[in-house]
Amino acid sequence: MSAVVDTLRLTAEEALALVERGDVSPAELHAAYLDAIGERDAELHAYLRTVEYDGATSIPIALKDVISTKGLETTAGSRILEGYVPVFDATVTSRCRQAGLSVLGKTNTDEFAMGSSTENSAYGPSRNPWDPARVPGGSGGGTAAAVSAGLAPWGLGSDTGGSVKQPSALCGNVGLRPTYGTVSRYGIVAFASSLDQVGPVAKTVRDVALLYRIVSGRDPADSTTVELSEPVELPTSERLDGLRVGVPRQAVALEAIEPGVRAAFHSSLALLGELGAELDECDLPLSFDYGMPCYYLIAPAEASSNLARYDGVRYGRRSDGATYRETVERTRDDGFGDEPKRRIMLGTYALSAGYYDAYYGQAQKVRTLLVREHAAAFERFDVLATPTSPTVAFPLGDKAADPLAMYACDLLTIPSCLAGLPGLSVPCGFSEGLPVGLQLVGPQFGENALFRAGHAVERALELDLVPERLR
Ligand code: GLN
Repeated sequence: MSAVVDTLRLTAEEALALVERGDVSPAELHAAYLDAIGERDAELHAYLRTVEYDGATSIPIALKDVISTKGLETTAGSRILEGYVPVFDATVTSRCRQAGLSVLGKTNTDEFAMGSSTENSAYGPSRNPWDPARVPGGSGGGTAAAVSAGLAPWGLGSDTGGSVKQPSALCGNVGLRPTYGTVSRYGIVAFASSLDQVGPVAKTVRDVALLYRIVSGRDPADSTTVELSEPVELPTSERLDGLRVGVPRQAVALEAIEPGVRAAFHSSLALLGELGAELDECDLPLSFDYGMPCYYLIAPAEASSNLARYDGVRYGRRSDGATYRETVERTRDDGFGDEPKRRIMLGTYALSAGYYDAYYGQAQKVRTLLVREHAAAFERFDVLATPTSPTVAFPLGDKAADPLAMYACDLLTIPSCLAGLPGLSVPCGFSEGLPVGLQLVGPQFGENALFRAGHAVERALELDLVPERLR
């Protein structure tokens, strides 16, 4: 353990205070995290690579390896990007640097962020700090494992269908998928552009809100971004009087939800009531029936288009052939793992002539219905509550051979992603000694209400979120 500071329980806010008071220097803090990584990451494999302190003036941060870092290899967990060193920073990386944050390293991810366990990483899986025989979730399992094991005070992930929220739930962290358009994707390795969002992961809701404040806002380099209509508020209130919470009947009815997760979820609903919130059931009949199939047409379709840029000529690794065509074929054959290949094939099929209207076109129409269904719910409610993940962290290998079982991990996170809405996962209890996450979904730009609700739950529960075996 570092002599300077114990990183295990340190929140980002506490770390910031230590640096501000001059109790610890940014260099010492960075070094303390590298020491912790040296001690614990051989087992967890949260990081793909780490970097030395670079002279920054504030605390460190971990970045998922889909986020471009100038001069530092960025692979998106894929062999095809092995050795690719970006010549520019992603906008979120620059914003972190402008805020004085030092990049600790790049965290593991399922290849091109496709997966729910990090088992699809070409560089080997990450492990869950609560039980290393289990997955940390995915695709952003590296960031989640790092935050949970005290290997970073906070980190950034990307969320297309649940990759910030689900690993946060499985590792006992707080994670935010922000409203589509509030955080720039410039310099993020693209998966499905109409869904991809960057989001913070941390130990507390206030830390998540602080990091969201740093990275959000309009960026001329990403035309989908807007300025926030109201400033990010750091939550303080411990009461939720008057907050209207909707509980989607069709989500709660899903058989895939494990009994232990269900029990923790129901106690957190009771708690919301005790804190002053007004709860009522609501109906989102299409979202939980058609969200998954709709996502698995739209996301692969966009992925097949985005991944067409990897041809061995411009980025990363190349497998040479006699002709240009042969080179591209060999590069893709060697460079892409099974999951990206599966998605490229699904997506190419869904977009092909004669099938486009029946698959991609139809999915886009369904998506519009999901947007409307959510908008109608937010006429009555401020926040919708469901579990984040139907299960707690599962053993490595459990779902790896069954793509549909893996896809089902995101049943509860996908609908609001398709609707472009923000979602916060907050720890709400334990099942079999493993953390359970409560998902709070808000209307567009409703992050402040999510922070307020999440913070009150966190304060009321006061869970010890340091994995038992590390205490
Ligand atoms: N698990 C989902 C998928 O495989 C979501 C991934 C993500 O959000 N990047 O597509």
